[in-house]
Amino acid sequence: MSCRKLDGAAAAAAIRAELAPQVQAFTQRCGRPPSLAIVLVGDDPASAVYVRGKERTGSETGLRVTIHRLPKETTLDEVLTLVKRFNGDAECDGILVQSPLPAAMGQDAEVRVVDAIDPARDVDGLHPYNVGLLAQGRVRMAPCTPSGVIELLDREGLPIAGRHAVVIGRSAIVGKPMSMLLLQRDATVTVCHSKTSDLPAITRQADILVSAVGRPGFVTSDMVKPGAAVVDVGTTPISDRALAVRLFGEGSPRVSALAARGSIVVGDVHPSVAGIAGALSPVPGGVGPLTIAMLLKNTLAAATAREQSTRGAD
Ligand code: NAP
Repeated sequence: MSCRKLDGAAAAAAIRAELAPQVQAFTQRCGRPPSLAIVLVGDDPASAVYVRGKERTGSETGLRVTIHRLPKETTLDEVLTLVKRFNGDAECDGILVQSPLPAAMGQDAEVRVVDAIDPARDVDGLHPYNVGLLAQGRVRMAPCTPSGVIELLDREGLPIAGRHAVVIGRSAIVGKPMSMLLLQRDATVTVCHSKTSDLPAITRQADILVSAVGRPGFVTSDMVKPGAAVVDVGTTPISDRALAVRLFGEGSPRVSALAARGSIVVGDVHPSVAGIAGALSPVPGGVGPLTIAMLLKNTLAAATAREQSTRGAD
């Protein structure tokens, strides 16, 4: 079976190209660009890379992206104070606090930070108010990764309505909002997780299979229905050569890349799935670039909504 590549990088580039003139028009109307404040606490190397990617791509699209780097000793109260400052800043349209926060901040730190963000500036779509709207089918700000998956399916012309979509993973940031967005698009949705019995029997029923687990090579070809569309959300950095060889085969370009760089990022879906799926998103170059594109789209939407509500108040 020939498997189509779901080209997230191309879809993300198309979204950014559509956003650029809208960003320019906003900037002309308001005398300033749409603005996103990113808070990065600590020195997690993967987070630093993600944040730089968001800053670079945002700036290239004409947004103002400001990174606020805080040391890992920062207290939760200090982060909450910064978030409150952004909430009151008329020129701040979007706030994103990069996850994960340092463990020392406490188990509920991420929830408390998200709860503190003004829902109108919650461009990650994780505030309970926005999650509630999503659950009610009145989407205002949907989380970036799952809405990127929907964009990818749409732009690749893959129908969602009436299909059986199986989501592996039930996190607040990917799995749950993914299932809600697919449901809203009239898919029949099954959500699986670590306690699901006989997972392969369920995933084999999927016309659309979305994996958001974070385990390299977790989805194997025996778990996939022939011809299914498989979207790989997983991104796990690996530095173990033996694992890379098990996944990609001795002499593959990915194994060479690991040797050259010391680590590579791999998805949840085993490469052999390309032999059975009808369409498959790669890692890297699949969902990742779309997550950033949707963040920019949400920031512009937040900026425009705030502009309109300010005009309405005049
Ligand atoms: P998470 O919070 O750790 O959630 C993982 C989910 O996988 C959980 O719901 C867990 O089930 C489930 N799971 C674990 N083992 C399983 C098993 N054996 N069988 C079935 N389900 C299992 O992770 P996340 O934040 O959702 O992220 C998932 C992956 O996506 C990670 O690799 C992350 O790096 C990646 N990601 C990528 C992007 C992007 O832009 N490309 C964005 C966000 C996340 P339980 O709930 O039962 O524990």
